[in-house]
Amino acid sequence: MSANLLQRVPVAGAPAMEEYAGYAHLAPAVAELRAEGRELLARLGSRTVWLVNSTAVGGGVAEMLPTIVRFLRNLGIRTEWVTIGSRESGFFELTKHVHNLVHGEGDPELGDAERRLFERVNQENAQTLASWVRTDDILVVHEPQPLPLAFMLRDRLSLAAVWRCHIGVDTENAATRAAWSFLDPYLTAYDRAVFSAPEYIPPRLAGRATVILPGIDPLASKNRDLSIRDTIEVLSSSGMILSPGPMVGGYFAQRSRWLHADGTFRHREGPDGFALLSRPLVTQVSRWDRLKGFLPLLRAFARLKAAHASTAAEPGTPARSLALAGLLLAGPDPGSVQDDPEAAGVLEELRAAYLALPTSIQSQIAIVTTPLHHPEESALLVNALQRASTIVVQNSLREGFGLTITEAMWKGLPVLSNSRACGPRQQIRDGMDGMLVRDPEDEGELERALATMLADAQRLRAWGRTAQRRAFEEFLVFRQLRQWGRLLLAMLPV
Ligand code: UDP
Repeated sequence: MSANLLQRVPVAGAPAMEEYAGYAHLAPAVAELRAEGRELLARLGSRTVWLVNSTAVGGGVAEMLPTIVRFLRNLGIRTEWVTIGSRESGFFELTKHVHNLVHGEGDPELGDAERRLFERVNQENAQTLASWVRTDDILVVHEPQPLPLAFMLRDRLSLAAVWRCHIGVDTENAATRAAWSFLDPYLTAYDRAVFSAPEYIPPRLAGRATVILPGIDPLASKNRDLSIRDTIEVLSSSGMILSPGPMVGGYFAQRSRWLHADGTFRHREGPDGFALLSRPLVTQVSRWDRLKGFLPLLRAFARLKAAHASTAAEPGTPARSLALAGLLLAGPDPGSVQDDPEAAGVLEELRAAYLALPTSIQSQIAIVTTPLHHPEESALLVNALQRASTIVVQNSLREGFGLTITEAMWKGLPVLSNSRACGPRQQIRDGMDGMLVRDPEDEGELERALATMLADAQRLRAWGRTAQRRAFEEFLVFRQLRQWGRLLLAMLPV
């Protein structure tokens, strides 16, 4: 018999609730969560909450689920995380197509063959899930990929079901209409749906939908404080800088790979010509997805470099910051994210654009792939890269929420993004926490925004402080979990 497509994802090694309570600034939020958690646990009893998505690594959903699992388990709630899989390679191409359509992009043509593939793969996953769940458990399905599951289980089980959709746009076009009519038949099986913004709720779910903003775990390896020594160690161990001396811990199991001038991705050997730790650093860390806007960012930065080439500028002047600034574009090794088959193509476009640049500009831009196989190492690497940055950019054309923005704000960094994407607009207040350009594909506008930001270090620090405070007040996991708790309570029989 063939192996299950559906996989349970183990979640281990997490700080316990007491540890959070040990931090003065987190203690009040922990106390509130515990109080509400007790009520939820009493009502849930021995029911299990099943969280389902389509990948254990890569992207915002895979980032958030371990945190939610740990916290719910800490509160005493039985919680399981499972990922669906597919033996048919076309499945994730189809779901990526649907993902892009929900974002208003791509060919709206979706026919019977696509629907049959979508249902066939979900049906196989549903069969396994049906043997794992109990009739009064709660099913929380994330994103469109496993959407049909509740529909397929409903006739056999009386599960309460929630669909959590993390994506969306605030406009409608032929693509979004095609996506929603494709997904429509499966929506009826859900008691509630959860979105990241009111603008994303499709009319057919009005009245059954709730808005819950995502939140980050402040003590996770991705977000916890790193000392200067820790940061240098992580950057050295992951091959991002040349270690200043012998390393206590040695290299990580897998190191990052840099795009070299000969067009190959390799580990970086020899002296650190990129000077990651000393130059003003503009960073975007994202999946290699066309909608993340890497290419216009690369082009805008190259324009900035062409316009501000002179390193003869006086020390301490804005001109010197501009001349020394470097750009770091980082994302997962293509192929490591199961549900993102477009990554290799997007990285290839970036590679070609990079190779077309003059050598003097190439040397100021780093395009790096990060291994995802070791979640702890990969999270520490992103943490260290963000902390080593002067500005974090998230130039997404569309963005459901943008955890990379939250992560940067939490670390006290100013963020550059755009007001066209709804997620960034919910987080960044233009001129307070960073800057929002109007058009992420307008290279001139982006170049000007980068120049404005890089030219004023004092203002950047002030924006970083406000950003951090906003992340603390609005975007931490405690608030998110309390909202989930209330939603589940409302669904349970009294
Ligand atoms: N991420 C990562 N390594 C990478 C690129 C991204 O760990 O090389 C993480 C990033 O830190 C964030 C998540 O992946 O936690 C991306 O979530 P976001 O909401 O920004 O975008 P999504 O990928 O869900 O569209």
